[in-house]
Amino acid sequence: MPRSLRIAIGGIHIESSTFSPHLSTADDFHVTRGDALLARYDWLSPARPWAGDVEWVPLVHARALPGGVVDPAAYDAWSAEILDRLAEAGPVDGVLLDIHGAMSVVGREDAEGDLVTAIRTLIGPEPYISAAMDLHGNVSHVLFEGCDLLTCYRTAPHVDVWETRERAARNLVDALRRGQRPHKALVHVPILLPGEMTSTRTEPARGLYAGIPEIEAREGVIDAAVWIGFAWADQPRCRGAVVVTGTDAAAVEKAAGQLGEHFWSVREEFAFVAPTGSMDECLDVALATAADPSRRPFFISDSGDNPGAGGADDVTFALERMLARPRIRDGSLRAVYASLVDPEAVAQVADQPLGSPVRVRVGGRIDQRDPGPLQLDGVLEAVAEDPAGGRCASVRVGGLSVFVTSRRMQYAELASYARLGIAVGDMDLVVVKIGYLEPELFDAAGDWLLALTPGGVDQDLGRLPYRRLVRPVFPLDRDFAADLTVVTR
Ligand SMILES: [Zn+2]
Repeated sequence: MPRSLRIAIGGIHIESSTFSPHLSTADDFHVTRGDALLARYDWLSPARPWAGDVEWVPLVHARALPGGVVDPAAYDAWSAEILDRLAEAGPVDGVLLDIHGAMSVVGREDAEGDLVTAIRTLIGPEPYISAAMDLHGNVSHVLFEGCDLLTCYRTAPHVDVWETRERAARNLVDALRRGQRPHKALVHVPILLPGEMTSTRTEPARGLYAGIPEIEAREGVIDAAVWIGFAWADQPRCRGAVVVTGTDAAAVEKAAGQLGEHFWSVREEFAFVAPTGSMDECLDVALATAADPSRRPFFISDSGDNPGAGGADDVTFALERMLARPRIRDGSLRAVYASLVDPEAVAQVADQPLGSPVRVRVGGRIDQRDPGPLQLDGVLEAVAEDPAGGRCASVRVGGLSVFVTSRRMQYAELASYARLGIAVGDMDLVVVKIGYLEPELFDAAGDWLLALTPGGVDQDLGRLPYRRLVRPVFPLDRDFAADLTVVTR
């Protein structure tokens, strides 16, 4: 009977854009500790056979919707709590880090690297550290050095989140049982692309990720992972990465080199997951095809202010373009705009009887770019309490229902629309602050365009004021020879 292992679990999980004017504060995070933290992991209860006889030590876990840069006070408090609880826990065999990997903190350029360095300094060189990450995270040299195992999701949209965390935990337990510190190899791939060009639903990302199981199955390989990286932070670490870990140094190095070469070789094939256009171009197509039932509801992603990537969630640009269309204003088309965060506007209208005429200014408070706050002259259509958005209201202007929320949220699920009385299938047009459509919306859509709207997560990376990226990086730079050196440890 092997002796039981002690493994600590914790992390800070957020994707935060340095181009968004939103500030992510402690209030934006859902924080778990103790049994509530362990209850996040369904593979702990009832324990899988591989997880039996492991004592899991909960530290603290803080997670938020993607947003703007994180308040350093919040980051410092959780980082300190992770370290304090680790110190109190006494000796551990391992640490499982449950992180995103694209956390931007005011004044810091590699928050996850800082965190793992602080943990390593405290626990010493012996315990193994395993990180479970989002493929939109970044792998700095510091993070790579600090961890013994690193892996990330293999799907975008992410449908393997819990599988990934379980794999990171299981590989950690197996490595500790084996008693052999894993060999690891890192390749930085000088590519920086938005998630909307790298969905694993379409080539070439589909093929790139489809190659991972074969590599993982090789003798001497534990895990293989490919990070797309995070495009909306201006930091040297932001770019593609490959990490392979295993028991055989040569197999690990070879596999990392192959995956890095594969990623680089397909760079010119990455394209947006849906046809794109300006908001007006997308509206032209949507309105021209509204009479075709097979193309209803027609979806347009208001992608530049996608809160799911870190947008402020209150840019009014797309809404203003919709309201400029007579067929939407006069009610000959039925449309929904989801959504704008504006707690003041919600408070102003939500106590009135449904059906009341309302005049309210919405949006443009956090991200104040043009056109700024917009005045809605409409009717209060619905009020609801949403688990994510708090108190929400729908204001009807002609044929358009405008959703206004009290907290930043994303209308990625049909149930969220239904709370405000909207059956998505009955709509001619749905405009939503999102990038690629999440599965329920993807299935509901009769057609779909990605509008390249302005905002803190602008999909047109050439419009963003990068200063700290390591150059050259594709596609901001072209026609250069990539350095695909395999770093081994
Ligand atoms: Zn992601």
